[in-house]
Amino acid sequence: MARKLARIVRVDAIRPIEGADAIEAAVVGGWVVVVKKGDFTPGALAVYFEIDSFLPEGNASWQFLVDKQPRVFEGRRGHVLRTLKLRGQVSQGLLLGLGALDGTDLDRASLAPGDEVTLALGVQKFEPPVPAELGGVARGAFPSGVPRTDQERIQNLAEALAEWQALGDSGALHWEVTEKLEGTSITFALLEGALHVCSRNLDLVERPESTPWRLARALDLEAKLLALEPGRSLAIQGELVGHGIQGNPYALQAQRFFVFDVWDLDRASYLGPDARRDLCARLGIEHVPVLDPRATLGRESTMEALLARADGESALRKGQPREGVVWKALERVASWKAVSNRYLLKHGG
Ligand code: AMP
Ligand code: MN
Repeated sequence: MARKLARIVRVDAIRPIEGADAIEAAVVGGWVVVVKKGDFTPGALAVYFEIDSFLPEGNASWQFLVDKQPRVFEGRRGHVLRTLKLRGQVSQGLLLGLGALDGTDLDRASLAPGDEVTLALGVQKFEPPVPAELGGVARGAFPSGVPRTDQERIQNLAEALAEWQALGDSGALHWEVTEKLEGTSITFALLEGALHVCSRNLDLVERPESTPWRLARALDLEAKLLALEPGRSLAIQGELVGHGIQGNPYALQAQRFFVFDVWDLDRASYLGPDARRDLCARLGIEHVPVLDPRATLGRESTMEALLARADGESALRKGQPREGVVWKALERVASWKAVSNRYLLKHGG
């Protein structure tokens, strides 16, 4: 699911910030963003931009950000929205009045909360450059029939959260909680008896300099899958972390691959946690750290509490804050991520 980076929202609440007289905090779903005092009132329509938005130069509403902190992305000058702390208040994203839409062909009168304006405003998701040895030459598009790896942020799921809390309180819904590792997404897919190695968006040609392919060969995945799961079409999805990847926060000498999902193409569904972990054990490959195999998410698990639980130490390295957590429902298909604000503030996300 593509993220709605820029969208029309209704401001849920305005909160004061202790010790600050020029700024206050606006609440939009699960997001808190610092704004100039008096600029917004609860219930007002506004445009909200999530962190990781790249705002291209040329819109008067956000030009001050480009001037203050310019960044070039895909050959264009602009600004990347990051997590900030202002007067002790975590601020994520950007809230602007509907004036930001001036110059687009959107009809202001017909706009409603939830409407996406990402494209109309030319906003893009900022992606850090991928080192050449992790990408490579395309053998083809990402295999159709295999879902891309992605997780929605809990801050965008305030309504679903209320439903999950009620189900959790009645004992009807449980969750597997794993550590979210920061690296790059890799999919190893056995399709009609042949191994395909894919980056986040591409099926890669086998080359000696391709790190994901070298890893697949080192793990002997093709032979093992053919022997252990004959006749099945499975896609093993995980995070490649370590040296040369995303700043290597775990200070690893080499690269390691950690599985977080296995997709069964014949059934068009993910393996459950037990079957997934069992397959990893049989293949001799690592699984992302499991923080809780059967967590409850009830009334006490407020948005704030869940975000606070995202903070913690990585299981991969002592003293290193983890990037966050991913929650996967056990009794239905639902999952989301909570990225640690402590980590975002430290690593600039
Ligand atoms: P993001 O990295 O913010 O784009 O969040 C989604 C991505 O997190 C997925 O596409 C995976 O590549 C990655 N990821 C890392 N650890 C996990 C995990 N434990 N469960 C699911 N996805 C994970
Ligand atoms: Mn990531």
